[in-house]
Amino acid sequence: MKYFFIKTFGCQANKSDSERIAGDYIARGFKETSNWKKANEIVVNTCSVRQRAEDRVKGFLLNIEKYFGSNRPKIILTGCMLHHQKKNLLKLLPQIDQILPINKVGFNSPAIRKDKLHAFVPISSGCNSFCTYCIVPYSRGREISRPMEDIVSEVKDLVKNGYQEITLLGQNVNSYGLEKTNIKTRKSTLSKPKSSPPFVNLLQEISKFKDLKTINFLTANPWDFHPALIKEITQNRKINRFIHLPVQSGSNRILKLMNRGYTAQNYIKLINQIKVAVPNATFGTDIIVGFPSETEKDFQDTVNLTKKAGFQVAFIARYSPRPGTVAYRLYQDNIPPQIKKKRWQILENLINKPHLSTRPTIR
Ligand code: SF4
Repeated sequence: MKYFFIKTFGCQANKSDSERIAGDYIARGFKETSNWKKANEIVVNTCSVRQRAEDRVKGFLLNIEKYFGSNRPKIILTGCMLHHQKKNLLKLLPQIDQILPINKVGFNSPAIRKDKLHAFVPISSGCNSFCTYCIVPYSRGREISRPMEDIVSEVKDLVKNGYQEITLLGQNVNSYGLEKTNIKTRKSTLSKPKSSPPFVNLLQEISKFKDLKTINFLTANPWDFHPALIKEITQNRKINRFIHLPVQSGSNRILKLMNRGYTAQNYIKLINQIKVAVPNATFGTDIIVGFPSETEKDFQDTVNLTKKAGFQVAFIARYSPRPGTVAYRLYQDNIPPQIKKKRWQILENLINKPHLSTRPTIR
């Protein structure tokens, strides 16, 4: 019997990909081990969101090398570190034997899930938004939506097998099925909605399964939050009232440098529209502090937005330049680490500390 071990770094999208990589190994007759020292093949599913995430991958590979010496198991690298050119990657991580592009994993390998009640279901992969700090459009490629009938069929099987809660996953779930429509056109349909976007149709389809109790989705982006989606949340009691809506900054100047496509005022307007339509809605967000050139005034704008939005939880990151991104090429990482830390701490105290005992559990 041959054994495989998967080490997953990073976000829920990576965890979901790892479930499908495991499914592929099982289909090929391998058995999963929870101990990498017993594995014949080790898959390292990497994260690149910050330099520290890449350093942890390096550390893990060095441990393997130290333990096995030259007679080590086959090491396969996948995930977001694949944005590095192959030549650089092999120089950076000389232990790797094979590279598995994440889009080769595919949506349709059967997922091996450890949780038996709650399942993560990918509905799209990649991203077309090109926020200037983000590596995803380069590491995961352009946005591709999974056919609706495949998603519905997977959810049907999950419900049949006792799953009561699902989380629909994508880098931008609410642009599901709209990857061929450019952002400008999508934005103009927000003010004059003609029909429901495909994501709303998908929510309606999977809500028809009687035994499915809760539907979450991650990550929804502000610029694609269609009025029909707000209406659907209002009417559909299966949709979780906790909404994760990354804002990244409260400064319009920084939002522009980030290429986020909305202003702080648009963002707060959207939050207020949702609060009026769904009075028990709560919100989570992602924020980056110390983006290049972020002044004290820019940061105060973020603090003010945070107070207005009333977030229940925030994933606060200190800006880390990622090679290959526009921000890395064009902007100087000129905010000193101690200032980044101070700003991070202020937001932690403001958002996360007061809610520690009531934090939502998804993600
Ligand atoms: S929306 Fe922006 S931050 Fe999110 S994955 Fe796409 S490029 Fe990255």
